[in-house]
Amino acid sequence: MNPIKCLIIGSGPAGYTAAIYASRAGLAPVVLEGLQPGGQLTTTTEVENFPGYPEGIDARDMMDDIRRQAERFGADIRPVAVTAVDFSASPYAVTLDDGSTLTALSVIIATGASAKYLGLPAEETYRGTGVSACATCDGFFYRKKTVAVVGGGDTACEEASYLAGLAAKVYLIVRKPFLRASKAMQERVLSNPKIEVRFETNVTDLQGDGGVESATIVFKQGTPEEQVSTLPIDGLFLAIGHTPNSLLFRPWIKTDEAGYIITEGSGTTTNVPGIFAAGDVADPFFKQAITAAASGCKAAIQAEKYLMTL
Ligand code: NDP
Repeated sequence: MNPIKCLIIGSGPAGYTAAIYASRAGLAPVVLEGLQPGGQLTTTTEVENFPGYPEGIDARDMMDDIRRQAERFGADIRPVAVTAVDFSASPYAVTLDDGSTLTALSVIIATGASAKYLGLPAEETYRGTGVSACATCDGFFYRKKTVAVVGGGDTACEEASYLAGLAAKVYLIVRKPFLRASKAMQERVLSNPKIEVRFETNVTDLQGDGGVESATIVFKQGTPEEQVSTLPIDGLFLAIGHTPNSLLFRPWIKTDEAGYIITEGSGTTTNVPGIFAAGDVADPFFKQAITAAASGCKAAIQAEKYLMTL
């Protein structure tokens, strides 16, 4: 069987946008949707910051629209996940969870990142009804309410500051006695009268009827001074980091220490010719649907140019 010209791994805004551009360029792209068709965005409810939807749009509807747009130009979208790759030589080999193997002349990795959660059963119970890992996505639903953000890094501080602009009160729950965030971020949080930082504190459970109403928090957990209390909140935001979904590719593709794929300049080329990376798997910083879509577009254009050199 002839190798696929352009294989796209992942189906978030980056993957589908790459598919739109690649199919319009006549590359007959094949998209491997993975285990979460539509990507991370499908774990949120409404998207209000993607240009073109003045009234906002349901996240799943938006991803369906982008998918259909790709299909309209002939993208071949398959409900399979990748279990292994071999990027040692072109054409590159990709093994799927149905046991079959595909080969491709160019590959766009758009596998995204996964927000880290604490691992509490209650997070699953209230996911989408009070538990979120994206303040920019879901903060608006907590206008004038009380929320807690877990984490002590730049993301947590940024999310807490953002939420303080909407909510009546924000608790920042930090497990250490200090913030890991940059000085500027720390000052922003500590000087905001709406944000109360609770150091040396862990969230261990959530309660509520149909939505979050309170959290169990533990001060100095596991020490003689341990104190357990209940914090009334309407929402819990996790900001304890993301894990880029790059593990499968790491034997060949260079990543930074956190696992984000390293791309050249403002483009999407990786250290392996013909392999491109787009979206959150290569973005430790912006992590927005619109920036992921933009990099998917770049990846398709760069793949097209690469294929012309073969
Ligand atoms: P970080 O890894 O920097 O911070 C994660 C935070 O979550 C830490 O405070 C960590 O605590 C805490 N944490 C981790 N696991 C748990 C847990 N199980 N329970 C409770 N707390 C936990 O991740 P970020 O997403 O904040 O930042 C990632 C990178 O992106 C950083 O390099 C950051 O500087 C950068 N960034 C920069 C921004 C900017 O400059 N505007 C904005 C956002 C991110 P502990 O300290 O104890 O490990």
